[in-house]
Amino acid sequence: MGKKQKKTHIVCRRCGKIAYHIRKKECSACGFGKSKRIKHFSWQWKNMLGKGNRKK
Ligand SMILES: [Zn+2]
Repeated sequence: MGKKQKKTHIVCRRCGKIAYHIRKKECSACGFGKSKRIKHFSWQWKNMLGKGNRKK
């Protein structure tokens, strides 16, 4: 771990995580730069949709 690593990810403007890829120009965490909308994960939607709309 003595090598100087090249900076590939910077702080994302939208989610605040160091996940914004400089070369790809997209955030791996929220998808900023890739799409205008925030990246949604299926488990997040499940939680959101599960509210007040539960089966059983
Ligand atoms: Zn982001």
